[in-house]
Formats: sequence, structure tokens, C-alpha cells
Amino acid sequence: MLFLERPCVMNLERSERGERPSPRGLEMEPRVGGKMGKISVGFQRSSTSDDDSGCALEEYAWVPPGVRPEQVQMYFSCLPEEKVPYVNSPGEKHRIRQLLYQLPPHDNEVRYCHSLTEEEKRELHMFSAQRKREALGRGTPKILPRALQHTRCENCGGGINGGEMAIFASRAGPSPCWHPACFVCATCQELLVDLIYFYQNGKILCGRHHAELLKPRCSSCDEIIFSDECTEAEGRHWHMKHFACFECETMLGGQRYIMKDGRPYCCGCFESLYAEYCEACGENIGVDHAQMTYEGVHWHATDQCFCCAQCKTSLLGCPFLPKQGRIYCSKGL
Ligand SMILES: [Zn+2]
Ligand SMILES: [Zn+2]
Ligand SMILES: [Zn+2]
Ligand SMILES: [Zn+2]
Ligand SMILES: [Zn+2]
Ligand SMILES: [Zn+2]
Repeated sequence: MLFLERPCVMNLERSERGERPSPRGLEMEPRVGGKMGKISVGFQRSSTSDDDSGCALEEYAWVPPGVRPEQVQMYFSCLPEEKVPYVNSPGEKHRIRQLLYQLPPHDNEVRYCHSLTEEEKRELHMFSAQRKREALGRGTPKILPRALQHTRCENCGGGINGGEMAIFASRAGPSPCWHPACFVCATCQELLVDLIYFYQNGKILCGRHHAELLKPRCSSCDEIIFSDECTEAEGRHWHMKHFACFECETMLGGQRYIMKDGRPYCCGCFESLYAEYCEACGENIGVDHAQMTYEGVHWHATDQCFCCAQCKTSLLGCPFLPKQGRIYCSKGL
């Protein structure tokens, strides 16, 4: 078994700034169909050199376990080319990115988390164990019997013919199945990496989005929030201690802040970064000041600034006529 010592992870889609160890060899032990299955997740490449089928499975960084070589080829031929994990291909990089994104190591193991209290460590253990026990599974690619008709994909509703490949998920029961390319997370719509899914309320989800159904995730450090106290703004959550200005990192708990693009800023940073200037008087429009905006032009929302360019009548609350970046009362033209 080969380990990638340095998985090449680029553009890791995560809001946290620190670095984490890679989840090499992270193991999950779900109970699937009454038997104790074992799903190992990691960066080990498949090693199939003792396979005598003549199919070159070595060209893949991962193959579905327990599937015959010709079916492996059939499975991958159903996926978009750029997501097939050929060794040293964009598809392999995509897979590694998705492993870290869909199955965050810090959702499972205390050693990948920063500064948990003893109580939070216990909660993470329980949270992780319960999710594995109750929701985790791995999709199984199978070829539908030739005689089978009228099989529908759970995701797109389209037909899957006898003789074609479908993915089954034992947590969802024996009959629901998916086109291989339709076996995606209900939240992020990404192909479920290595066919690993979590099943909840009739949906299949990636690990990240399953965890977020149950607990909030901190937008700053990306860890699950176990504390009862957290900050919420625009549908996002933060640990109290991580709710800080995106620019200067000043703690914003109990402070005034402004959200922009899902990130909080202190008023000072926001004004210096995103200040807008009044078209009439040329002065900066402070965050505390009401403003008028029309087609990308801004004014102080005052009688002096938001007024007719010709007769200076206030246009606050009045209809106005825009012309070449200026505004006029209806009498003026
Ligand atoms: Zn489908
Ligand atoms: Zn997802
Ligand atoms: Zn945090
Ligand atoms: Zn700031
Ligand atoms: Zn002004
Ligand atoms: Zn006028």
C-alpha cells in the first residue's frame, strides 16, 4: 500500500487560515446492514498489481472496493473525465481536495482540532461515533440485471436501463439507486468522494454537510461548534472567540460590525476598505450615515446632498430623473 506523503492540496476550500495535518489513514467504522463494515478514508493509492485480469487498475488512485476490474472501468466511464482519479491527473487532485472538503478530519478526530475543552472533546467523540453508527455508508456500484425495467435514478429521475451501472446505498434501503454521476451530496451537489455518503432524512450527503445538519460550523476555523454559545450572522456561525474582523482580527463579540461577502469587519476597517463617496459633496459616507444609491452612484441621504442638480430642491422621498450621473427634480427638465 502506497502512501502519499505530501498530498498536493491546492485551493483548499476552507475559510480557516492555519494548517492542518492531512487525514492520512483516517478510519471510519460504520455498521452497514447489520455487519460491522469498515470504511477507511485516506490518501493511499489502490494497489492492484497482483490482479491478473489484464485491466490496468494501477492507473487509478482509488477504485471502488469489492468491484470486478471490468466493472471498475464501467463505473469510471460514467463519471465526468475531469473527476476520474487517474494517477497524477487533475482528477486525482480533485479527489484529494474533495476528501478534505467532504470529510473534514477535524469533524472526526480531536487531534485535528484546535483548543477544545475536555467537555468539547467528549462531545466530538460522541458526535463522530453517532454519525458513523447511524448514517455513514459507502455506495456500491452494481450492474442492473438485463431484464430489469423502469428503474429511476433517485437524483435526476431519469431511467437506468438493465445492463447499465447504478449506485446502491444500503442506508437508503435495497431498491433506491442512482446514476454513478448522480450520486452527489444533496447540499453541495459534488460527486460523493470515494462513494462515501451519510444518510439523513431521506437524503444522501457528504460528511461536511451531514455534520452541518446536526451542528453549526465555525466560519473562521471550520470546526464544529459544540459550545452552547456562538455568534450567528447572515446564516453563518462562529465560535464566540473566532468572531473577529476579517481585516484586523479585532474581536467583534458585543461590538458593532458590518458583514460583507459573508465576512465580518469592524467599522474602522470597513470604512477604510469600502468607503463610498458622496456624489454631491465629495465626502466619505460613514457606515453610520444613511445613504442613497442609484446605479452605483452614492449620496448622503440628506436634503443638502440628495437634491436636484439644478434647483437644489431635496429629492429625498421624491421621484427624480437621473441624467448623466446627476439627478433632477421633475420640474427641472
Ligand atoms: Zn440520475
Ligand atoms: Zn456536501
Ligand atoms: Zn472557530
Ligand atoms: Zn478591523
Ligand atoms: Zn454628501
Ligand atoms: Zn430642480
